[in-house]
Amino acid sequence: MQTSRSQEWFARALRRIPGGVNSPVRAFLAVGGTPHFIARAQGAYLEDVDGNLFIDYLGSWGPMILGHNSPVVRDALIQTLAMGTSFGAPSPLEVELAELVCQLTGTDQVRLVNSGTEATMSCLRLARAARGRSKILKFRGNYHGHADGLLVQAGSGLAALGSAGSSGSAPSSAGVPEEYAALTLVVEYNDAAALRDLLRAQGDQLAAIIFEPVVGNSGVLLPSADFLGALQEARRLGILLIADEVMTGFRLGLSGACGLLGIEADLFCWGKILGGGLPVGAYGGPADLMSQISPSGPVYQAGTLSGNPLAVAAGLAALRALVADPGLYTRLDRYAAELAAGLTGLAARHGVPAVVHQIGSMLTLFFTGGPVENYAQASASDTARFARWFHALLDQGVYWPPSQFESAFVSAAHGARELERTLAAADRALSGLSG
Ligand SMILES: *Cc1c(COP(=O)(O)O)cnc(C)c1O
Repeated sequence: MQTSRSQEWFARALRRIPGGVNSPVRAFLAVGGTPHFIARAQGAYLEDVDGNLFIDYLGSWGPMILGHNSPVVRDALIQTLAMGTSFGAPSPLEVELAELVCQLTGTDQVRLVNSGTEATMSCLRLARAARGRSKILKFRGNYHGHADGLLVQAGSGLAALGSAGSSGSAPSSAGVPEEYAALTLVVEYNDAAALRDLLRAQGDQLAAIIFEPVVGNSGVLLPSADFLGALQEARRLGILLIADEVMTGFRLGLSGACGLLGIEADLFCWGKILGGGLPVGAYGGPADLMSQISPSGPVYQAGTLSGNPLAVAAGLAALRALVADPGLYTRLDRYAAELAAGLTGLAARHGVPAVVHQIGSMLTLFFTGGPVENYAQASASDTARFARWFHALLDQGVYWPPSQFESAFVSAAHGARELERTLAAADRALSGLSG
């Protein structure tokens, strides 16, 4: 495969951008090699600057559920562009997006921000203000963006760098004061007993529990019924449950993972699909909580470009397209389920120990005999084998997420042809991994 132009761009990038990338997971550190620089993307495909074409399972790390360069999103952007790009005063499209999000998710009010990180960070500030308590609880291997207090046992991007944090509340990043990290308690995901123990000991000090209702950031993990039960018990102690649906919102259905699995929560965070490929995040909940946000309440949170007309137009067009196609989620699930079954069968045939988790259009192939119910078990996967798998696929024109601890995403643009080619590539990749 020709990669000389990507190499040249990467050399230039390394001089002016730390590590050559603007988000660490793009750098291929977990799988070796150097990143391909992308020139354009269309439907289910990425094309790099050397002209190589890849079937894309990265989906820009989640947003591109409609496929790349979707005509509905592009048309909305072109129309909005003609009106100007930012006003610093309220405009109609932000209201329409807020209304649609509330309607789809059953929330009273939302505040629009520019990223998932901003959504979770601001939502926690609100929770702390509402409860007058400082501590929060998160789960090991769940990722909630890069705010200081959330970089504790923080999953995928950090796991790929070997710095997800080893124990307790030690920060996963340099520069996070231990004093901040100490306010973030951590329990293993799906460990209902540990969660109940912690609630008994310190529940009265917790403002909130933030969690991924279906985990994408340890690879895909599903919550157990017992674990979900223990989470609900926390609410009786006055602890606010924050469902971080930044990845799962509008991906596992119009009402997200919580809608799909019947999980109740007090506050919700969204991002990724919500922006239709442009930067939008949001957090929302009942009016009595949301009214505590400035300017209606004392919890300050602001943003120069929040509700930006272009970003909001893209998100609105994407959500409307999802609403207008009621069979879409079933089709995505069918594709992903066939891919998952195919991968499971191929791994068995080639004698490669593997566990495949799939829900809706999210899936992960873990290179371990399993089971995989939490981050500790996910990290028992053979990451060297994963790296060989990743490159074997890439060499055959299939772009899998470049880390064992990520979810692959299927889009509406993936069809029978892409599925067949992916499974053929997987067959060759897995045959090269046996023994
Ligand atoms: C991606 C992600 C975030 C962070 O969103 P950014 O837009 O990257 O800041 C937060 N929570 C979850 C669950 C995510 O997957």
